[in-house]
Amino acid sequence: MARKFFVGGNFKMNGTKGSIKSIVKGLNEAQLDSNVEVVIAPPSLYLQLAQAELTKAGVAVSAQNVYDKPNGAYTGEISVAQLKDSDIHWTILGHSERRTLLGETDEVVASKTKVAIDGGLSVVWCCGESLEEREGGNTIAVIERQLSALAAKVSGADWAKIVIAYEPIWAIGTGKVATVEQAQDVHAAIRKWLRANVSDAVADATRILYGGSVNGKNCKDLAKEQDIDGFLVGGASLKPEFIDIINSNL
Ligand code: PEP
Repeated sequence: MARKFFVGGNFKMNGTKGSIKSIVKGLNEAQLDSNVEVVIAPPSLYLQLAQAELTKAGVAVSAQNVYDKPNGAYTGEISVAQLKDSDIHWTILGHSERRTLLGETDEVVASKTKVAIDGGLSVVWCCGESLEEREGGNTIAVIERQLSALAAKVSGADWAKIVIAYEPIWAIGTGKVATVEQAQDVHAAIRKWLRANVSDAVADATRILYGGSVNGKNCKDLAKEQDIDGFLVGGASLKPEFIDIINSNL
């Protein structure tokens, strides 16, 4: 089954009004592969600015996080309903920086994912192992643990709203990209897990992105792999080479 290539740009806590306008202008004016779905995730403060500036078809704006309560005394958090009210239809969840720096457990990430989907959002759900876990031979066990927590909360049609991003923590922002083989092996293992534990249909249809030091040079080789359906891009999404990454298959 053909899966539409997907590229996400995670700006993290970077940018100003000026720089975000300029990135969006670059996307508006670029020739982008029409077979690619693109989302950009600026800091929450700039979601509406990015949304207002964006004119390019095929590009959407995503949050970087959401809270799993509908409203109330949760200082600093943003609800799914507030995102929807602002015409934002995507969120990233479970990024390793939130898991490791902000203490989000597998269960919290899964719960947020379920609440986001129930509220009408689509989710770029992130997973990945630390260097220690990889060197200990535990990569697949860690990913399967993360997937199991997700599968305990979501079911059926929910999966159509999930894009999985495999992001080895040791490759994020380090310039140390996973080899094509390392990435493809984990992506194939994720698809196999989905086939065994969810369904053939979900395994065939779910996009699995690679994230971790993707740039304009290494993207083409990674994109050729059969289980790599796109990228989640951090640092390079702030640079003009983001366009080259979107156009990896051209
Ligand atoms: C990310 O944070 O999702 C990421 C992949 O970062 P980078 O591309 O900078 O490694």
